[in-house]
Amino acid sequence: MAPQRENAFVNAQRQFDIAADLLELGPGMRRILRVPQRELTVNFPVTMDDGQIEVFTGFRIQHNITRGPAKGGIRYHPQVDIDEVRALAMWMTWKCATVNIPYGGAKGGVIVDPKRLTITELERMTRRYTSEISLIIGPGKDIPAPDVGTTPQVMAWIMDTYSMHSGYTVPAVVTGKPINIGGSLGRNEATARGLVDILREATKTLSFDISGAKVAIQGFGNAGAICASLLSELDANIVAVSDSRGGIYNPNGLAISAVLAHKARTGSVIEFPDADHVTNEEILELPCDILIPAALENQITTTNAGRIKARIIGEAANGPTTPDADSILYDNGVFIIPDILANAGGVTVSYFEWVQGLQEFFWSEDEVNAQLDRIMVRAFQNVVRIAQERKVHMRTAAYLLAVDRVARATETRGIYP
Ligand code: NAD
Repeated sequence: MAPQRENAFVNAQRQFDIAADLLELGPGMRRILRVPQRELTVNFPVTMDDGQIEVFTGFRIQHNITRGPAKGGIRYHPQVDIDEVRALAMWMTWKCATVNIPYGGAKGGVIVDPKRLTITELERMTRRYTSEISLIIGPGKDIPAPDVGTTPQVMAWIMDTYSMHSGYTVPAVVTGKPINIGGSLGRNEATARGLVDILREATKTLSFDISGAKVAIQGFGNAGAICASLLSELDANIVAVSDSRGGIYNPNGLAISAVLAHKARTGSVIEFPDADHVTNEEILELPCDILIPAALENQITTTNAGRIKARIIGEAANGPTTPDADSILYDNGVFIIPDILANAGGVTVSYFEWVQGLQEFFWSEDEVNAQLDRIMVRAFQNVVRIAQERKVHMRTAAYLLAVDRVARATETRGIYP
């Protein structure tokens, strides 16, 4: 029998409980923060190109809006389910609090394989889903962004649909837009660049050099592929990368620009010349200094955590490591940069894009990158300090910082009525 898929929301609640215990949160505050505040499920029809009608199911979930409007991506993937979206929404709350930007957490998803739709079907589906969730999104309410399976073009259709309903253009309703309609310079690279900013600090903390470090990356999309490019610019040695169809490995290093060209030509990294084939399971266990999971949840579990050889895991993906695997990695001395810190660069530059959209005043790419670096390095230093003071691993330290911020804000505002 195939192993049961771990429930991401159960894992997210366990991670929260660990921090709540250490923070000695009262039972009322735990009950508030343990569950999403709002959950919208939508079943909506789309006319396909052949004239048939298909009904899709989608979600938009707002976990918490105490510190500001809800913020979080939209995922198009065949395995999206409501518990996955709940977990991703909760992680967004903690992520925004970890880097101290004024947002709550949300996430959306549609159960669909976007690769199976034509471009016109994808547009109609996106516009109808936007229309269905427009009840709860808006520039001061809840601001979506890209995630797995969605792109700047999808964000453009969301912005356009919302603007058509409003009767005027509302750029700040969504981030991750193309630059020519109000996107921010640097947003496309922001998740990867933020992680690289932190890896630079982490390797200093652990006293080894990022140049020459061997890196394996699972997932070769927005987060993974751009990480590979930025790290090779720092002379790190990218030894393995993978996508949904499998991975490639060369212990002497892969030429990332050639891998990108191969992927653009063939649709996948597999069958790249001068490399051995590895599976998406094997890539996690390869000899390397830095492992970057940049695909989906629950990749590092009790089954494989003990076999991981990397010194640092930088979680570009959300939820790649289960709570039980965390303990094994901690005992083995692996330094984890947890998702709510590691991949917060994306939401940070989304915040800059939102601010620029509201002010209609745009920054240079150097300004964006400098502000991003400042926020990421400050958050990393705060989390390391808490890990050392409380003698906990980095994930728990990040949760202590984030949950405490949200709990205090909740206390300050009070419970209505
Ligand atoms: P993407 O759609 O651009 O890329 C996803 C990549 O993962 C693709 O290469 C795909 O082939 C691969 N993939 C899919 N299923 C896989 C599997 N079972 N095994 C291995 N690879 C698989 O998505 P993305 O935006 O790069 O997101 C990747 C991860 O990063 C997600 O967990 C997402 O939540 C997280 N993240 C993304 C952003 C962002 O700004 N894009 C921000 C924060 C976190």
